[in-house]
Amino acid sequence: MMESAAGIGTILLIILIGGGGLVALGYIVRAALRVGNLATMVARLLKQADYEAETTPKSLSSAEPLLMDRIRRDFPEYNPELIRQRVAADAKTFYESARAGRCLYKEGVSDQLKERLESFLPPDVAGSIRVYKVALSAYDDVSEDRVLTFQAAASFKDPADTTRQRRLILKYLAAWSTDTMTGVKKANCPNCGAPIPAVGSKVCKYCGTALKVWAGTQWLLTDIRED
Ligand SMILES: [Zn+2]
Repeated sequence: MMESAAGIGTILLIILIGGGGLVALGYIVRAALRVGNLATMVARLLKQADYEAETTPKSLSSAEPLLMDRIRRDFPEYNPELIRQRVAADAKTFYESARAGRCLYKEGVSDQLKERLESFLPPDVAGSIRVYKVALSAYDDVSEDRVLTFQAAASFKDPADTTRQRRLILKYLAAWSTDTMTGVKKANCPNCGAPIPAVGSKVCKYCGTALKVWAGTQWLLTDIRED
Protein backbone atom coordinates (compact mmCIF):
# COMPACT_ATOMS: atom_id res chain seq x y z
CA MET A 1 0.00 0.00 0.00
CA MET A 2 2.74 2.39 0.98
CA GLU A 3 4.85 1.23 -1.95
CA SER A 4 2.08 1.73 -4.50
CA ALA A 5 1.33 5.21 -3.09
CA ALA A 6 4.98 6.08 -3.48
CA GLY A 7 4.80 4.67 -7.01
CA ILE A 8 1.83 6.86 -7.92
CA GLY A 9 3.63 9.83 -6.34
CA THR A 10 6.65 9.17 -8.53
CA ILE A 11 4.46 8.91 -11.63
CA LEU A 12 2.66 12.19 -10.72
CA LEU A 13 6.02 13.84 -10.15
CA ILE A 14 7.23 12.64 -13.55
CA ILE A 15 4.02 13.94 -15.16
CA LEU A 16 4.41 17.30 -13.38
CA ILE A 17 8.04 17.60 -14.39
CA GLY A 18 7.14 16.46 -17.86
CA GLY A 19 4.33 19.02 -18.00
CA GLY A 20 6.66 21.70 -16.66
CA GLY A 21 9.18 20.63 -19.24
CA LEU A 22 6.60 21.01 -21.99
CA VAL A 23 5.67 24.47 -20.71
CA ALA A 24 9.34 25.38 -20.56
CA LEU A 25 9.87 23.93 -24.04
CA GLY A 26 6.95 25.99 -25.34
CA TYR A 27 8.43 29.08 -23.74
CA ILE A 28 11.82 28.38 -25.30
CA VAL A 29 10.25 27.81 -28.73
CA ARG A 30 8.28 31.06 -28.51
CA ALA A 31 11.39 32.94 -27.34
CA ALA A 32 13.32 31.44 -30.22
CA LEU A 33 10.59 32.55 -32.62
CA ARG A 34 10.72 36.04 -31.15
CA VAL A 35 14.50 36.08 -31.60
CA GLY A 36 13.88 34.81 -35.11
CA ASN A 37 11.42 37.67 -35.73
CA LEU A 38 13.91 40.12 -34.29
CA ALA A 39 16.65 38.73 -36.53
CA THR A 40 14.31 39.06 -39.51
CA MET A 41 13.47 42.62 -38.48
CA VAL A 42 17.15 43.51 -38.06
CA ALA A 43 17.91 41.94 -41.43
CA ARG A 44 15.07 43.95 -42.98
CA LEU A 45 16.34 47.18 -41.41
CA LEU A 46 19.88 46.49 -42.60
CA LYS A 47 18.60 45.76 -46.08
CA GLN A 48 16.62 49.01 -46.04
CA ALA A 49 19.69 50.93 -44.84
CA ASP A 50 21.64 49.30 -47.68
CA TYR A 51 18.96 50.29 -50.15
CA GLU A 52 18.95 53.86 -48.87
CA ALA A 53 22.74 53.99 -49.01
CA GLU A 54 22.52 52.90 -52.63
CA THR A 55 19.75 55.30 -53.63
CA THR A 56 20.67 58.41 -51.63
CA PRO A 57 23.43 60.60 -53.08
CA LYS A 58 26.35 61.32 -50.74
CA SER A 59 25.99 64.50 -48.73
CA LEU A 60 28.26 67.44 -49.51
CA SER A 61 29.38 70.40 -47.43
CA SER A 62 29.46 73.72 -49.25
CA ALA A 63 31.51 76.61 -47.95
CA GLU A 64 30.84 78.82 -50.96
CA PRO A 65 29.11 81.70 -49.11
CA LEU A 66 32.08 81.92 -46.72
CA LEU A 67 34.73 81.73 -49.45
CA MET A 68 33.18 83.96 -52.09
CA ASP A 69 34.68 87.24 -50.81
CA ARG A 70 38.23 85.83 -50.81
CA ILE A 71 37.79 84.28 -54.27
CA ARG A 72 36.33 87.47 -55.77
CA ARG A 73 39.20 89.49 -54.31
CA ASP A 74 41.58 87.39 -56.42
CA PHE A 75 39.25 86.65 -59.32
CA PRO A 76 36.70 89.45 -59.80
CA GLU A 77 35.11 87.63 -62.71
CA TYR A 78 34.76 84.30 -60.92
CA ASN A 79 31.47 82.73 -61.96
CA PRO A 80 30.41 80.10 -59.40
CA GLU A 81 27.66 78.64 -61.58
CA LEU A 82 29.94 78.17 -64.59
CA ILE A 83 32.70 76.54 -62.61
CA ARG A 84 30.23 74.20 -60.89
CA GLN A 85 29.11 73.06 -64.35
CA ARG A 86 32.73 72.47 -65.28
CA VAL A 87 33.33 70.47 -62.08
CA ALA A 88 30.22 68.35 -62.70
CA ALA A 89 31.46 67.60 -66.22
CA ASP A 90 34.91 66.65 -64.88
CA ALA A 91 33.34 64.36 -62.27
CA LYS A 92 31.34 62.64 -65.01
CA THR A 93 34.44 62.27 -67.20
CA PHE A 94 36.22 60.61 -64.26
CA TYR A 95 33.68 57.77 -64.18
CA GLU A 96 33.43 57.63 -67.97
CA SER A 97 37.21 57.20 -67.99
CA ALA A 98 36.82 54.44 -65.39
CA ARG A 99 34.25 52.67 -67.57
CA ALA A 100 36.49 53.03 -70.65
CA GLY A 101 39.62 52.03 -68.69
CA ARG A 102 41.56 55.03 -69.98
CA CYS A 103 41.86 58.79 -69.47
CA LEU A 104 39.15 60.61 -71.46
CA TYR A 105 40.09 64.13 -70.31
CA LYS A 106 41.12 66.40 -73.18
CA GLU A 107 41.85 69.86 -71.78
CA GLY A 108 42.01 71.63 -68.45
CA VAL A 109 43.79 68.76 -66.70
CA SER A 110 47.41 68.79 -65.53
CA ASP A 111 49.79 66.46 -67.36
CA GLN A 112 50.71 64.75 -64.09
CA LEU A 113 47.07 63.93 -63.42
CA LYS A 114 46.60 62.62 -66.96
CA GLU A 115 49.62 60.39 -66.56
CA ARG A 116 48.58 58.81 -63.29
CA LEU A 117 44.79 58.83 -63.69
CA GLU A 118 44.58 55.28 -65.07
CA SER A 119 46.33 53.91 -61.99
CA PHE A 120 43.53 54.93 -59.62
CA LEU A 121 40.34 54.77 -61.68
CA PRO A 122 37.68 52.72 -59.87
CA PRO A 123 37.50 49.24 -61.47
CA ASP A 124 33.77 48.59 -60.96
CA VAL A 125 32.07 51.23 -63.17
CA ALA A 126 29.67 49.60 -65.65
CA GLY A 127 27.27 52.40 -66.58
CA SER A 128 24.40 54.77 -65.59
CA ILE A 129 26.86 57.46 -64.49
CA ARG A 130 25.17 60.40 -62.77
CA VAL A 131 26.49 63.52 -61.07
CA TYR A 132 23.88 64.91 -58.67
CA LYS A 133 25.52 68.03 -57.31
CA VAL A 134 28.76 69.87 -56.77
CA ALA A 135 29.89 72.00 -53.84
CA LEU A 136 32.88 74.27 -53.28
CA SER A 137 34.45 73.15 -50.01
CA ALA A 138 37.76 75.06 -49.76
CA TYR A 139 39.83 77.87 -51.24
CA ASP A 140 43.56 77.89 -50.61
CA ASP A 141 45.15 81.32 -51.02
CA VAL A 142 47.91 81.00 -48.43
CA SER A 143 50.83 80.60 -50.82
CA GLU A 144 51.13 82.18 -54.26
CA ASP A 145 49.13 79.34 -55.75
CA ARG A 146 45.36 79.51 -55.72
CA VAL A 147 43.56 76.20 -55.31
CA LEU A 148 39.83 75.51 -55.31
CA THR A 149 38.59 72.27 -53.76
CA PHE A 150 35.22 70.87 -54.78
CA GLN A 151 33.15 67.88 -53.73
CA ALA A 152 30.86 66.06 -56.14
CA ALA A 153 28.14 63.50 -55.39
CA ALA A 154 27.91 60.87 -58.11
CA SER A 155 26.58 57.39 -58.72
CA PHE A 156 27.08 54.57 -61.19
CA LYS A 157 26.07 50.96 -61.66
CA ASP A 158 28.62 48.25 -61.03
CA PRO A 159 28.87 45.05 -63.11
CA ALA A 160 26.25 43.37 -60.84
CA ASP A 161 23.83 46.23 -61.71
CA THR A 162 24.00 47.60 -58.16
CA THR A 163 23.96 51.39 -57.84
CA ARG A 164 27.06 52.76 -56.10
CA GLN A 165 27.00 56.19 -54.46
CA ARG A 166 30.32 57.99 -54.33
CA ARG A 167 31.76 61.33 -53.26
CA LEU A 168 34.61 62.84 -55.29
CA ILE A 169 37.17 65.43 -54.25
CA LEU A 170 38.46 67.64 -57.08
CA LYS A 171 41.24 70.21 -56.84
CA TYR A 172 41.76 73.07 -59.31
CA LEU A 173 44.85 75.21 -59.61
CA ALA A 174 44.56 78.70 -61.05
CA ALA A 175 46.95 78.63 -63.98
CA TRP A 176 47.87 80.69 -66.95
CA SER A 177 46.58 79.58 -70.29
CA THR A 178 47.81 76.07 -70.89
CA ASP A 179 48.47 73.95 -73.87
CA THR A 180 48.02 70.20 -73.87
CA MET A 181 51.66 69.48 -74.69
CA THR A 182 53.55 71.38 -72.02
CA GLY A 183 50.98 71.93 -69.28
CA VAL A 184 51.13 75.15 -67.31
CA LYS A 185 52.46 78.21 -69.11
CA LYS A 186 53.89 81.12 -67.20
CA ALA A 187 52.93 84.69 -67.92
CA ASN A 188 55.28 87.62 -68.36
CA CYS A 189 55.23 91.11 -66.91
CA PRO A 190 53.75 93.51 -69.49
CA ASN A 191 56.30 96.17 -68.47
CA CYS A 192 59.68 94.42 -68.17
CA GLY A 193 58.88 91.00 -69.60
CA ALA A 194 60.06 89.10 -66.52
CA PRO A 195 58.27 85.81 -65.89
CA ILE A 196 55.53 85.99 -63.27
CA PRO A 197 55.94 82.86 -61.18
CA ALA A 198 52.45 82.35 -59.83
CA VAL A 199 48.89 83.41 -60.35
CA GLY A 200 48.74 84.99 -56.90
CA SER A 201 51.40 87.61 -57.78
CA LYS A 202 49.87 91.06 -57.70
CA VAL A 203 53.04 93.04 -58.37
CA CYS A 204 56.02 92.24 -60.60
CA LYS A 205 58.89 91.62 -58.21
CA TYR A 206 61.44 92.92 -60.74
CA CYS A 207 59.93 96.27 -61.73
CA GLY A 208 57.03 96.71 -59.31
CA THR A 209 54.38 97.02 -62.00
CA ALA A 210 50.91 96.21 -60.70
CA LEU A 211 49.69 93.08 -62.43
CA LYS A 212 46.13 92.58 -63.55
CA VAL A 213 46.56 89.11 -64.85
CA TRP A 214 43.37 87.24 -64.05
CA ALA A 215 41.92 87.61 -67.54
CA GLY A 216 44.01 84.75 -68.93
CA THR A 217 43.52 82.47 -65.97
CA GLN A 218 42.03 79.06 -66.26
CA TRP A 219 41.37 76.41 -63.66
CA LEU A 220 43.49 73.36 -64.13
CA LEU A 221 42.28 70.08 -62.64
CA THR A 222 45.30 68.76 -60.72
CA ASP A 223 43.73 66.11 -58.47
CA ILE A 224 40.60 64.00 -58.45
CA ARG A 225 39.87 61.06 -56.15
CA GLU A 226 37.05 59.25 -54.44
CA ASP A 227 36.48 60.32 -50.84
ZN1 LIG B 1 58.07 93.76 -64.44
